[in-house]
Amino acid sequence: MDISKKAKMNIFLMWLLIVPIGICIVYLTSPTKPSDWDHYIYFLILALLTTIFPFFIAGSLMVLVQWVNLAIFLKFGILAELISMQLCILPILFHMKLTKETRYKLYYNSFMFFCISIICGSLVLWIGYEIGTLVINEILLYGSIYMLLNIVLNHLFLYLREVFTGLKPKFFTKDFSWDFICLIITLPFGISIYILEGRVGPIAFILLGVPFLAITLLIRMYNDSEKVNTDLNKASEFGHQLAERMTTTEVLDMFLRRMSDMFPFDTGYIVDNVDSEFFILRAIEDGENKELEYVHEDIKYSLAGKGYEKGEPILYNKQAEWTHMKPPFLADDMQSVMCVPIYRNQRIEGVLVLAARAKFAFESYQLKIVHLLCSYFAVSLEKARYVKEAVEKSEVCDLTKIYNYRFLDKQLKLDMSKLNNGVYSTVSLIMMDIDKFKAVNDTYGHHSGNLILQEFAKVIQNEIGSNGTVARYGGEEFVILLPNYSKLQAKNIAEQLRRKVEQTPFMVPLDLGEVSREEIIFITASIGVSTAPEDSDEGMTLLRNADRALYIGAKQAGRNRVAEYVK
Ligand code: GH3
Ligand code: MG
Ligand code: MG
Repeated sequence: MDISKKAKMNIFLMWLLIVPIGICIVYLTSPTKPSDWDHYIYFLILALLTTIFPFFIAGSLMVLVQWVNLAIFLKFGILAELISMQLCILPILFHMKLTKETRYKLYYNSFMFFCISIICGSLVLWIGYEIGTLVINEILLYGSIYMLLNIVLNHLFLYLREVFTGLKPKFFTKDFSWDFICLIITLPFGISIYILEGRVGPIAFILLGVPFLAITLLIRMYNDSEKVNTDLNKASEFGHQLAERMTTTEVLDMFLRRMSDMFPFDTGYIVDNVDSEFFILRAIEDGENKELEYVHEDIKYSLAGKGYEKGEPILYNKQAEWTHMKPPFLADDMQSVMCVPIYRNQRIEGVLVLAARAKFAFESYQLKIVHLLCSYFAVSLEKARYVKEAVEKSEVCDLTKIYNYRFLDKQLKLDMSKLNNGVYSTVSLIMMDIDKFKAVNDTYGHHSGNLILQEFAKVIQNEIGSNGTVARYGGEEFVILLPNYSKLQAKNIAEQLRRKVEQTPFMVPLDLGEVSREEIIFITASIGVSTAPEDSDEGMTLLRNADRALYIGAKQAGRNRVAEYVK
């Protein structure tokens, strides 16, 4: 929930004006003050202990402190209950992991519980409850009214908070029904400890308090193992999904995005180390991908560089623990930081840094899961690199080291779709075929023919540079794609290539027994040109057109010439 600074200020002012002064007024006017302070202290300790082990049921935070506060009210009255409740807010809010942004909740809750304590207490006293009574019917009646009222008011205040902050909440929520279920536990336990404490004194805290705390602790432990299980399941699913990604970009994109679904961090950075230089490979800040550039040295002497050196995952719960080695990319308001090395083949590749504005945002078991996910990440990244290499290899001709037909086919489709989408205005295609190449093979041998093909590919590639795509179409035929080249421009380039080939001396080895010599030979090529969209707007047809121009216009007309496709 995002609420404005002004609303937060108003909440703080409301708290400041009402709560401290209110407590003083209640203190001064309260007819009943805890007289047996030692007993009150036991109750307070029990209340605080109850707040230390909250647990989650179906995603709702459960704190059963009301059982002690009911007993405190029944025994000591409004003031004692008020103080106890205010003190209990602190550990409860600690569990909610407040940040500067959400600190207003502390003031709102303090204000809310202050009002609830006053309203519930006053009402129950007004309708006839006598503090400290041991009449069982009265305890049951007024205790029940007190607790019911407490739940309804609590819910009403939270509902109003949401309404005031511009949300449209529902009144009957899951949390509201859980409150009633908790009442089945807190009401009888609260009344029991009140009565028992009255009868047997502080021994009641051992007889009832210890088992109560033990049960909440057990639920809490069960809760924790459930949480670990859920996170491990999510992590394994995440690992599989990551392994399915085929490209480095997909792996990187998915990793940080899915991590942010699983762990409560605000900013995350993948710090890479290549040739002993640190840099930020990927960054995500408040859900947005960021491009960050930092100097190697700044990262090296920060917690990221130290984490890299150490090679072990580290968890920092608050800023004071890492402020002396603050990396330049971490914002000043960050508190919790996880720094996890990324290992591949027993070698550390980089580190993952996750940071949160809340203190104690991460739990130690989460550090282990992040560590595990970093291994999945490194393996997936390596796989993506292998796939990339394999794809690149499969698209290059082994002999000439320029693109092969497979790549040409893909690039032609891509260029034609760009033409049809208006990205390119024209696409020209040049097809070249070496003249009488069979005779070259017959005279100098197949190996010499191969050397010529290699040299020929280099010559053409150098001439075209990055203006187009040069590919070996097959045998001694080559194709050049020239996006945004008109037919006239393509014809000029083709003529330039024809002349270049004609003038280039190709060296072939002559094996004459003892002495090996090199011989210079000259070759020529015939060339066909076609252009989209004027000749065709379909890739394969464009290729066929150039082929036709090559054979009819150039070869049949005597070879060593350029011909354009004519319809
Ligand atoms: P033209 O194109 O001028 O009509 O005559 P040509 O002799 O070049 O044409 P043809 O299609 O008859 O022969 C092509 C020759 O190219 C056949 C083959 O020996 C040779 N060739 C094709 N691929 C390779 C290769 O990878 N290495 C070598 N050394 N020769 C090859
Ligand atoms: Mg041929
Ligand atoms: Mg030929």
